[in-house]
Amino acid sequence: MNILILGSGGREHAFAWKLAQSPLSDKLFVAPGNAGTAQVATNLSISYNDFPAIAEAVRTNAIDLLIVGPEEPLVNGVVDYFRQQPDLVNLLIVGPDAHGAQLEGSKDFSKQFMLRYGIPTASSQTFTATTIESGLAYLDGHTLPVVLKADGLAAGKGVIIAENITDAKSTLTDMLDGQKFGAAGSKVVVEQFLRGIELSVFVLSDGVNYKILPEAKDYKRIGEGDTGLNTGGMGAVSPVVFANESFLRKVEEKVVKPTLTGLQKEGIVYKGFIFIGLMKVNGEPYVIEYNARMGDPETEVVLPRIQTDFAELMVATAEGTLDKIAVQVSPQTAVTTVVVSGGYPDDYEKGKIISELERLEDVMAFHAGTMAHNGHVVTNGGRVLALTAQANSLENAVRKSQEAARTVQFDGKQYRRDIGLDLIRYAD
Ligand code: AMP
Repeated sequence: MNILILGSGGREHAFAWKLAQSPLSDKLFVAPGNAGTAQVATNLSISYNDFPAIAEAVRTNAIDLLIVGPEEPLVNGVVDYFRQQPDLVNLLIVGPDAHGAQLEGSKDFSKQFMLRYGIPTASSQTFTATTIESGLAYLDGHTLPVVLKADGLAAGKGVIIAENITDAKSTLTDMLDGQKFGAAGSKVVVEQFLRGIELSVFVLSDGVNYKILPEAKDYKRIGEGDTGLNTGGMGAVSPVVFANESFLRKVEEKVVKPTLTGLQKEGIVYKGFIFIGLMKVNGEPYVIEYNARMGDPETEVVLPRIQTDFAELMVATAEGTLDKIAVQVSPQTAVTTVVVSGGYPDDYEKGKIISELERLEDVMAFHAGTMAHNGHVVTNGGRVLALTAQANSLENAVRKSQEAARTVQFDGKQYRRDIGLDLIRYAD
């Protein structure tokens, strides 16, 4: 089988690495990929938003299976585009159509969806430019802090937690004026702040059946102790020790099942990953967000734990036969530490030579923002590498991942030294 993965991050390198291990994989392609994906697949220099160019690559390379990594092409309708190509009706695709991707593409859609199907979530109201006055009045009566969410895709930056009423009102006004987040902020969801601990649960859906994949916790802020600016993710851990069996059963009954039932009732044949961002509040799960794809860097700890042939899982997802497959999961703990460019998530420089990669032992070095240049691997993004270690204990996995982060070198390297440490107290 020939497989094409869309994307260029650590998530896509992890997909390619896992698929390369499958006897079902013949030729593996990543568009556009990075220096890491080039080690296990052929990179195609195509933007994942250029649908006609992707279709051409599918035809030229006789692709059987297409896996969409990032949210943008999904929300923009890449799956719908392929469904309209008469000569590509047999192409297997992992990823929802544009309607299904609205779970991520519109916060208002996802809140209404949760409300319709009784899925636990924070109470909220949505406002637009024409209802700004009632929005401001609503904020007056709201408890603090209050959460304001731009409706559309905002590269993970569209959520503002306002601590006081002045900030809340100016944020709402700026979002609805289009000054913050542009068109993505033309609708704003104003939401109750939930106090609890966060984790993410990943589900594979084939339109009828589903499989729950290993859960993960990620570390969003740039600074240790969860301080400073939000990033794409500075690290992740799987499993999550506070997500015990009884909690995960609640997630399945109260969130996963009604989500799948809801999708079917809405006429959405959802074939792909559903990333459920959860807050555990007093032992109960509340949905903070849905994403229509896997997380990055969560993929880098979830995939190494999956023992079932990943190509088989992807085919079953696209064909609607997940009921015929069991997902085997390693009991080991996986920890990833993301090393980032100096200055990230603000401005940073690219093109720094990465060295000492060959010294890494017993660790997976998933490339995020890298490229090959003049015989070197150089930095090409904010998040540069996700260094994943697996071990029989959380402590050992943390230690190995951190050691790898110390070993690799490039000018300006930064990483968090506390990934997973907060979870050690739950592990006792
Ligand atoms: P989202 O893009 O919806 O995942 O939001 C980004 C981050 O904002 C989440 O990972 C949470 O840390 C935080 N957040 C979002 N919604 C809430 C909420 N209702 N209560 C508390 N924190 C939230």
